[in-house]
Amino acid sequence: MARHGGRGWYGRVVAAAVGVTAVAAATSVWTAQAGQSGGGSAAPSTSARPAAPEAAPVSETIAHASAAGAHAVNITIDDGPDPVWTPQVLQVLRDNGVKATFCMVGTQAEAHPDLVKQVVAAGHRLCDHTVSHDTTMDKKSQAYQSQQIVDAERQITKASGGVRPMYYRAPGGAFTPYSRKLAASHGMRPLGWNVDSKDFERPGSAAIVATVEREVAGGPTILFHDAGGDRSQTVEALRTVLPWLKQQGYGFGFPVR
Ligand SMILES: [Zn+2]
Repeated sequence: MARHGGRGWYGRVVAAAVGVTAVAAATSVWTAQAGQSGGGSAAPSTSARPAAPEAAPVSETIAHASAAGAHAVNITIDDGPDPVWTPQVLQVLRDNGVKATFCMVGTQAEAHPDLVKQVVAAGHRLCDHTVSHDTTMDKKSQAYQSQQIVDAERQITKASGGVRPMYYRAPGGAFTPYSRKLAASHGMRPLGWNVDSKDFERPGSAAIVATVEREVAGGPTILFHDAGGDRSQTVEALRTVLPWLKQQGYGFGFPVR
């Protein structure tokens, strides 16, 4: 389980070229599985609504299953949005007709609202990944946990133009009973993972692909990152692994709520 805190969260990404600007073209072949999340419409609202209240409570247990059924995987993309890598990840997802769940860091969302809106416009879902990606949340006070979760929810919802995060993923998986309950009461299902692609360690795209291929039979929720450093290996790995998953007969969905 990657507790990848403290590795240059706010470090500058020095890559020269910004990738292709993502366009919210709804040309995806994806239709079948979107919005099958039992209860609660995922319908992105264009009107700006207040963040915190309103959301119907969801289960406080940590979700791993896919709402799209037993033969589907959930692609989850953490730690962004990032002006260099998020557009490239969006492009790969679009090229493959795949919808994913983006677990966003609040400060990143606040800094790049255009990217948050692009993610939503492309039909992906949002997930609260706290304000500052503290992987020791489980050692902190409830007041601190609450601030990290609720403030990020506000930041993400504001950046998206009113679309709320539907999940909460604790950085490093550092959930607590309190944080799970709080998130659930805000309509955000705690979200775990089954397959850590280890892309954060930059082992080479082939190794990232191999990890996913080896471990995907063990569970449907797969973890990748679109920020926190050079994510070119992630982009390259996704270009290979998404078609491979399709060839293996997997569908793509969102985590259960
Ligand atoms: Zn993370």
